[in-house]
Amino acid sequence: MEFQTNENQKLIAQTVRDFAEKHIRPKMMEWDESQEFPVEVFKKMGELGLMGVLVPAEYGGAGLGYYEYVTAISELSRVCGSIGLSMAAHNSLCTGHILQFGNEKQKQKYLPKLATAEFLGAWGLTEANTGSDSMRMQCTAKKDGNEWIINGAKNWITHGKSCDVAVVLARTGDLLDSKGITAFVVEKGTKGFRGGKKENKLGMRASETAEMIFEDCRVSSENILGEIGDGFIQAMKVLDGGRISIAALSLGIAKGAFDASLKYAKERQQFGKPIAEFQAIGFKLADMATQIEAAELLTFQSADLKNRNQKVTKQSAFAKYYASEVCVRVATDAVQIFGGYGYTKDFPVEKFFRDSKLCTIGEGTSEIQKMVIARDILK
Ligand SMILES: Cc1cc2nc3c(=O)[nH]c(=O)nc-3n(C[C@H](O)[C@H](O)[C@H](O)COP(=O)(O)OP(=O)(O)OC[C@H]3O[C@@H](n4cnc5c(N)ncnc54)[C@H](O)[C@@H]3O)c2cc1C
Repeated sequence: MEFQTNENQKLIAQTVRDFAEKHIRPKMMEWDESQEFPVEVFKKMGELGLMGVLVPAEYGGAGLGYYEYVTAISELSRVCGSIGLSMAAHNSLCTGHILQFGNEKQKQKYLPKLATAEFLGAWGLTEANTGSDSMRMQCTAKKDGNEWIINGAKNWITHGKSCDVAVVLARTGDLLDSKGITAFVVEKGTKGFRGGKKENKLGMRASETAEMIFEDCRVSSENILGEIGDGFIQAMKVLDGGRISIAALSLGIAKGAFDASLKYAKERQQFGKPIAEFQAIGFKLADMATQIEAAELLTFQSADLKNRNQKVTKQSAFAKYYASEVCVRVATDAVQIFGGYGYTKDFPVEKFFRDSKLCTIGEGTSEIQKMVIARDILK
């Protein structure tokens, strides 16, 4: 494995940093307070190639690999986790599903628009009563001639209201049959498809999370991704890659919280000296830095495997589980280092603290990651 930063990564890191300072930092607390989902930012990110990082150039994407993808998400999330989360969901889930399992016609139709952010993508697996246990989903698709009629609802969907195109997993077979689920592409404006309730969240408040509702929503057989009955297996493969992006998101938030803490610890004086000179604070910073380094190695290890088209299920679970738990610990310690100021909205760490918790939940909770890892090491 070669973890030296390549020229592309350096360039991307700097470009994303500049972009985040100019277009995100000045407004992010306003968006956070009002839960505004800033669609225009994603359009600008599309111009930079950040909405189709892994999409090959022939489909209008940046045609880059996972090292560059991880770098871009973590640099963005170092400033604002919400924007990092939305970028991850758009790239890895919706776009990633079409890229991996769409036919040539579907790729030609959707990827260029997704890669440039002309279309915003969503990916609907979760339902109100089936999160970790997604195989029990209740949303159905019934065949009617050359069409399928989708009925049900998907919950907690990133861009569930604002998306232009969604990949939707629906039951086409028996309950608990892993071959009983199929993936469909559904476009905004399709009769019977609409956004529902938008969630009022603890963190990641500028990333839209909403319900998607399907009422006798008719789509053509041409909208099926891959084969009928392959949806669940496809979704698990999409999540294998998606978890790398949540590890990158976690890494970015942890680095942002650490950077702020280091600066503050050197500036803040108590008992006549900077608090960084107290061993308790120095050791906290040392623990934070060590854990971030380890999380980064696991994240790049899974990115490396993905770049080489190797199986990544265990490694992406390692990375997602470890980096997300580190993210929460580092963000919590950051608030502690800031003391009372850390508990206010005048300093950045309270937002990192709130945003961090999503990382141990989305795209498979920490408990589910441990199940994935245990299953792999026990076989
Ligand atoms: C901000 C946000 C964005 C999201 N975006 C999307 C999206 O774009 N698309 C999408 O499809 N979904 C999305 N989700 C949904 C997310 O993937 C689920 O919330 C997650 O998978 C957990 O499901 P759940 O919330 O139903 O929790 P549950 O599955 O009900 O879990 C509750 C608790 O029980 C534990 N648990 C469950 N089963 C087991 C078990 N077998 N063993 C041990 N512990 C267990 C869990 O770890 C957790 O601690 C999003 C969620 C959030 C919060």
